[in-house]
Amino acid sequence: MRRSALTLPVAGLALVVLLAWLPLPDFWIAQLSSIGQYSLVVLGLVLLTGIGGLTSFGQAAFVGIGAYATAYLTLQAGLSPWITLAVGLALTAASAAVIGWITLRMSGHYLPLATIAWGLALYYLMGNLDALGRYDGLLGVPGIALGRWDLSQGRPFFVLTWVLVLLAGFSLVNLLDSRTGRAIRSLNGGSRMAEAMGVNTLRYKIGIFLIAALFASVSGWLFAHNQQTVNPSPFGIKWGIEYLFMAVLGGAGYVGGAVTGAAVTKLLEDQLQVLLPKLFGTSGSYDTIVFGVVLVLVLKYLPDGVWASIARRLPRRRRSADWSGAAPLDDRPKPAPGEAVLEVHAARKVFGGLTAVNDVSFSVRAGQIVGLIGPNGAGKSTTFNLITGVLDLTAGEVLFRGERISGLPSREIARRGVSRTFQHVKMIPGMTVLENVALGAHLRGRCGALSAMLRLDRAEEQRLLREAARQLERVGMADSLHELAGNLAMGQQRLMEIARALCSDPALLLLDEPAAGLRHLEKQALARVLRELRAQGMTILLVEHDMDLVMDVTDHIVVMEFGTHLMEGTPAEVRQSPAVRAAYLGTEH
Ligand code: ADP
Ligand code: MG
Repeated sequence: MRRSALTLPVAGLALVVLLAWLPLPDFWIAQLSSIGQYSLVVLGLVLLTGIGGLTSFGQAAFVGIGAYATAYLTLQAGLSPWITLAVGLALTAASAAVIGWITLRMSGHYLPLATIAWGLALYYLMGNLDALGRYDGLLGVPGIALGRWDLSQGRPFFVLTWVLVLLAGFSLVNLLDSRTGRAIRSLNGGSRMAEAMGVNTLRYKIGIFLIAALFASVSGWLFAHNQQTVNPSPFGIKWGIEYLFMAVLGGAGYVGGAVTGAAVTKLLEDQLQVLLPKLFGTSGSYDTIVFGVVLVLVLKYLPDGVWASIARRLPRRRRSADWSGAAPLDDRPKPAPGEAVLEVHAARKVFGGLTAVNDVSFSVRAGQIVGLIGPNGAGKSTTFNLITGVLDLTAGEVLFRGERISGLPSREIARRGVSRTFQHVKMIPGMTVLENVALGAHLRGRCGALSAMLRLDRAEEQRLLREAARQLERVGMADSLHELAGNLAMGQQRLMEIARALCSDPALLLLDEPAAGLRHLEKQALARVLRELRAQGMTILLVEHDMDLVMDVTDHIVVMEFGTHLMEGTPAEVRQSPAVRAAYLGTEH
């Protein structure tokens, strides 16, 4: 039976209503409500840290913004909690946008450090503002009313909390299974490949940072009305760490990991509160030590979290190929045969004291396959990086279809119709082959996060997947659509990269050593694909060491040596050139 997108949330809702209706002790219901509140924050961390690769210790501060906003405005301005929820979300979004804009450009360890800094700053801000009651906080926060119903205590609160958790989880699952989701999942592998596919990585980083902050803010809103009081302590850095702990424990890469992590932490916490004083006789912060030990054990034995080991035993949801009826995507107008597609003029790149590319000029015309060859270290990959905007030129310029593209960011160059593969395959191993290739069609879709969360993007999504499937067929990989990319053999990974590059409907395709690591039959298949592409009018610049392949498929060859342009000509001319022979022999001796 095919599972619809609504099956899980509806089943979840039924379970929540059932639990509320069953005569469970009030204590359990309160525990489950707490788990739900934590889950909301941790769901945001799954998106931000587990999937997007951005570690944040500062989520508790956003819980605080949501909690203080609603507490202050319901108390001081007498506003309804439903209105203050919206105001709190707006305030959170504004602060997250500012903080994100500043900190998300940082890389490596700087970002987590910055999140600690803002977590501390917001904590002390809350504790020092007179209007917010300083460290005593605000008391007497009213409940959340729906008509005559009080939703902020007991069973109604439990249902409200979990309805919000289910909504957040549902929208997150939908988001990850979309054009935007693929872009988000590409963030973790470094920005080079994502940008080459046209993804504005900073924008998506800020986007997931915002969503995570909003989830945290909703949790704060629930907290304030349920506790009827707010003070800074639950929003400090200790809780920021604790939320991250829950994400890692549960499984930061999984939506199910958020709820698992929140539940395990909460239950463990309660058990320890009873157990530890009995063991040690005194009260103290032993729980922190135990949590530390648990975290180390989890990292060692379940590095992907508790949920990952459960999920492995569940049947994997198979995507059905229901895109066959989808309309094809629009193609871009292609250059006329013979038109100058790429002109490289005196391109130069200096790394410190090394001139990797030394005033190299050549051009590529529409419908040609041009080979760029030369010994290792000749500067071929660097030339590719200069053309595609991965590196800035030291001097010279690059024209694409008569327009200057040097100086543009690589996603802008991709938008104009230049697509590429990488010498070292760059892919998202945890995503299927089909999804990896669909990332190549990023610029051909426009549905954003909101329509994905609400599942309004399905028509466009089917068109993108149809295109991805078509390109995979084109390179002979129709049988591997649903395999995880990380499980592919090297040759298949390279073909997948070509399909991904083709998915952007390029006017110029740059292939960096596509035959490296391929077996004989795979090389023949690759040569066939290249010839077919040329027959269909594609223009290709090919870096390759396999001379049989190069001589076989190219129309024209440019030879580089030590960063300079050695010669160029037809395959026959290059084969006969003593200079080329010397260059290659020189490296072999
Ligand atoms: P090829 O692809 O022809 O084998 P590359 O373009 O990768 O050669 O490298 C050309 C030269 O530039 C090499 O000497 C290499 O070590 C150097 N190089 C490449 N990238 C960098 C970099 N980012 N920083 C410093 N040196 C680099
Ligand atoms: Mg190279």
